[in-house]
Amino acid sequence: MTSLQVAIACDALAHTAARHRRALSGAARRVAPVGEALLDLLYPPRCAACGEPSPSGQEPFCATCAGAIDPVPSGCDRCGLPGPDRRCGHCHAAPPAFAGVQAGGLYGGPLADAIQALKYGGRPAVARPLGRWLAARVALPQGALLVPIPLARRRRIARGYDQAALLAGHLARAAGGRRLAGALRRVRETPPQVGRTRAERARNVAGAFAAGPRPVAGLDLVLVDDVVTTAATADAAAAVLRAAGARSVTVVAVARAE
Ligand SMILES: [Zn+2]
Ligand SMILES: [Zn+2]
Repeated sequence: MTSLQVAIACDALAHTAARHRRALSGAARRVAPVGEALLDLLYPPRCAACGEPSPSGQEPFCATCAGAIDPVPSGCDRCGLPGPDRRCGHCHAAPPAFAGVQAGGLYGGPLADAIQALKYGGRPAVARPLGRWLAARVALPQGALLVPIPLARRRRIARGYDQAALLAGHLARAAGGRRLAGALRRVRETPPQVGRTRAERARNVAGAFAAGPRPVAGLDLVLVDDVVTTAATADAAAAVLRAAGARSVTVVAVARAE
């Protein structure tokens, strides 16, 4: 068995466990603590990064990986770019359409491994613990309206799921917010942003999004994505939501890249 096959098998188990957990929580709440313990025994929760059995089913990372995740350093008050300035030069020159960026941690190490597992490793079950982990690290107002950055259709079909949509759903549940479906569409397929310069990234996502069909006029929205780097994608998405009348747009990401 290759490591990918092991990861997929573990994910399938986690799916089964999640299904059993849901059935259990509805049918037999009184015995839930016993049931939860039994499920942990049958399907031991695994670290989202290294795949080792994790002693606590509540945390996505084992103790070793959790200790190796760096917090987001201070930086630009608009785009979150780590650095000494309160406002970075890019945001001074061309303020983005969003008001601010919050992230759970700095991209790299176990956090990057978990995001890779979710995006490319065929492990959608990582979204649930990661969403809960993120909810504990960002400040969202009660009832926040979460809008996932939509994945290109072709990529969603190839992957079988949309990781930002899964993340937004779990983050919303954990943070007392709501995922707002249908607010943002991707109308143009775009090649991946990885390996491009800031200017190339902005050009790459220009015209990629459209608002609707759900009206957003007057709403305060929170965009959800896995990683924010130059924030070009978030800026393009926020711009169409603001143009459609959204009162404010902020961004929440699992990780902030330097
Ligand atoms: Zn680990
Ligand atoms: Zn900035």
